[in-house]
Amino acid sequence: MVNLRQGGRKPKVAVLHVGGTIGMSLTNDGWVPDPAVLERFLAATPLLTHPDVPDFQVIRHEPLLDSSNTRPEDWVELAASIVAHDAEFDAFVVLHGTDTMAYTASALSFLLDGLNKPVILTGAQLSLEHVMSDGRDHLVTALVLAGQAQVPEVCILFGSVLLRGNRAQKVSNDEFMAFESGNLPPLAHIGARIKVNHGLVRVPRPGPVRLRNLVRQPEVVALRVFPGISAKLVERVLRQPTEGVVMATYGTGNFPSNDQALLDALAEGIARGVVVVNISQCHRGRVSQRTYGTGTALDRIGVVSGADMTAEAALTKLYCLLGQGLSPTEVARRMTVDLAGEMTPERLEEGTPALMSLPSVEL
Ligand code: ASP
Repeated sequence: MVNLRQGGRKPKVAVLHVGGTIGMSLTNDGWVPDPAVLERFLAATPLLTHPDVPDFQVIRHEPLLDSSNTRPEDWVELAASIVAHDAEFDAFVVLHGTDTMAYTASALSFLLDGLNKPVILTGAQLSLEHVMSDGRDHLVTALVLAGQAQVPEVCILFGSVLLRGNRAQKVSNDEFMAFESGNLPPLAHIGARIKVNHGLVRVPRPGPVRLRNLVRQPEVVALRVFPGISAKLVERVLRQPTEGVVMATYGTGNFPSNDQALLDALAEGIARGVVVVNISQCHRGRVSQRTYGTGTALDRIGVVSGADMTAEAALTKLYCLLGQGLSPTEVARRMTVDLAGEMTPERLEEGTPALMSLPSVEL
């Protein structure tokens, strides 16, 4: 761990409270966001003034959200808030619901250009007011990490791991180890000691951070392939106003290639300019469209391989690229380029330790 303290000053961390179970209270309608929960916790926890906890300031986003209600505008607002407060703080902790945390973390990684300080998203399975809450540890550990660890990326802290945000997925709705990144080891393990895997941490470009400008709100769709999926359904999904589709296929990127009408429906949409990105339904492994004949069929009609991206990363990346007003051809090209550590470039696929210390690529 490297201490950020310079000239004897404690690091300053902004805690952006966006919502989630961590700050919810129980009502007749179930758990709902309640600003008083975090306020009560902060007021009742002297540990937060410990010398190892950085100075922090809570900035509450209005209204607090159950993250199931998150929309792309919220990603942009959060990214803009980080950019706006960049000069005042050494790091950011984002308190967020777990349901769409992986989407928000991925979107932030594509929206924040030149990020050179930690942005750590965390939340909880149980509210801070619950006797068994995992949120208390998460908040304290996120603050300590934000203040001391050199991990200048958008990350998710949950359970005992710090994950790259655009590689993480929610894998459990009741276990305390709720997130995993199937295609990348954790950036850090949290135990009696915090072990940062510096070989995996990205090298930041010199700041300051900028917000990538989205000029419009594109229509993107997530489509999960299943046995019996019909040409009619695919044809409808790819109709106007759809501009991009993240298609989750089987195994290494395989699709029912024995249904010509189905392939034609896809091919027709692609020819009209819809960008179709192929990701795997498997949590681990990468799409390799030429491994089986059933994948080669997709390769031939111009489906873009999403390599080892998560569904969340692929969808938010597609949204951000289309939202920048780029042409379908350019969007399709950039979907195959690693922009923020979200995919493993093919040449490095064999797992060399150097594979993550890659420079950022301009969106
Ligand atoms: N529904 C909640 C949310 O995503 C779940 C959680 O925070 O764990 O906001």
